[in-house]
Amino acid sequence: MIVFVHRKDLRIADMPAFTYISRKGSKSLHLFVLDPVILSERRTEAASGRHFMAMLARLQELYRREGAKLNVVYGAPEEIIPQAALLHEACEVVVHRDDTPYARQRDGKLEKTLWRLGIPLTVLSDQPLAEPDEFHRYAGRQTPYKVFTPYYRKWSEFVRDTFQPPSAVSLRQLTTASLHESLADAYRSPFRIEPLPNEESMTEPERALGAFVGSKLSDYADRRDWYATDATSGLSAYINTGAISIRTVYESMLEGETYEAWRRQLAWRDFYLYQSALDPLFFRYERHFDLSILSDRHVDAWSRAETGIPIIDAAMTQLNETGRMPNRLRMVTAMFLTKNLLAPFPFGESLFRHRLADADNVLNRGGWLWSASLGFDAAPYFRIMNPESQSRQWDPAGEYIRRWLPQLRAFSDRDIHRPLPHAIVDLKASRARAIDVYKQILSSA
Ligand code: FAD
Repeated sequence: MIVFVHRKDLRIADMPAFTYISRKGSKSLHLFVLDPVILSERRTEAASGRHFMAMLARLQELYRREGAKLNVVYGAPEEIIPQAALLHEACEVVVHRDDTPYARQRDGKLEKTLWRLGIPLTVLSDQPLAEPDEFHRYAGRQTPYKVFTPYYRKWSEFVRDTFQPPSAVSLRQLTTASLHESLADAYRSPFRIEPLPNEESMTEPERALGAFVGSKLSDYADRRDWYATDATSGLSAYINTGAISIRTVYESMLEGETYEAWRRQLAWRDFYLYQSALDPLFFRYERHFDLSILSDRHVDAWSRAETGIPIIDAAMTQLNETGRMPNRLRMVTAMFLTKNLLAPFPFGESLFRHRLADADNVLNRGGWLWSASLGFDAAPYFRIMNPESQSRQWDPAGEYIRRWLPQLRAFSDRDIHRPLPHAIVDLKASRARAIDVYKQILSSA
């Protein structure tokens, strides 16, 4: 018996673990452990948690349709998994690799306990297109890449040489077991995991991918920043929960021409996954840069969409109401918080982690480090996006602001981007202050 534990891989197609188990020809026990550390009640009510639970419900339904068994339990993974492995006389536990600090700590504990029981933990790569260690060896480097462009050049070569199309092994080829009743009862989930309401939602990730490749991909390079037009794939929440595999996503692009701009964004994702795996500083930057909040009132206003800067408030309204925000506006709002308001980036990072439907610890941190001019290949500290000019440049007619702030609808195209009289900061003065402060912190680091 092999115990397999689902984590950020809520799907049944193209699963490296399924391929592995089918090669071994072993029976398998499939678990999903709702971990109270990650999925608190507060989290399950926020957009990030709600989306995750919806994808979990979808996974349960996919298993049911295949006549297979997914055992969902609630509790500490490092406690439940060894018990299940023992009780079911497992010879091995299999998971997909995850490199956030918490995941490492959790898997470290799990591995130790299993080791004492004489059961090995096998960790397979699933999330990135270029597995960090393998890529690092391929690149023949002593130290990890710190700059994106040379990384991207080597990455493109690596992915071209090593890309494996999605695996054809299906869940039907495996024989899945039911968790022993004593454990299923002891660790029953307090959360209701409701199946998604309609038939179509079961194929949502694939439909979103098909629709994007079929009608938007060819204009992506020119349109991606025009955030009022919804020109990007909208796939991040599916990719991050693993509801669709990154190889399926990448393969769909290969069928057409080479779409450089989109491939580059997929490479940014890999770049951050690579840094989180190989650079011990990636999750520790805040310890080195100590900005103390200038004003709680400002940070509150930012989070409640009450800054008086139309594009910031429109973007934060979209986030608060829907759990979504386009990439350019994530950069603009993050820079506004960390530069114009001089707030430490972890404030914004933790708010995004909670409120974004596509929240991902690694990509979110990468985005915040970039916007706060920290980390590798981050925005230079003196290049601060001006929210008003960004708004005029990417959405001249103010369509997005009108959509999310209907109270400003009557303003002319020229006036709609302007800070309102009650704006909490002056953009020019706060920009100059930020440059001074950042120059000091970065030169003393
Ligand atoms: P597309 O433009 O269609 O791109 C395709 C895929 O490429 C995305 O789904 C994503 O996997 C990857 N990608 C695109 N842009 C980036 C980028 N800048 N960095 C890394 N990978 C990228 N993305 C998340 O998935 N989760 C987060 O929690 C997250 N937090 C962010 C926080 C900040 C402050 C910033 C600036 C960016 C953050 N991003 C995050 C990256 C990016 O904004 C989203 O991936 C993108 O907006 C998702 O939309 P899409 O799927 O339509 O992307």
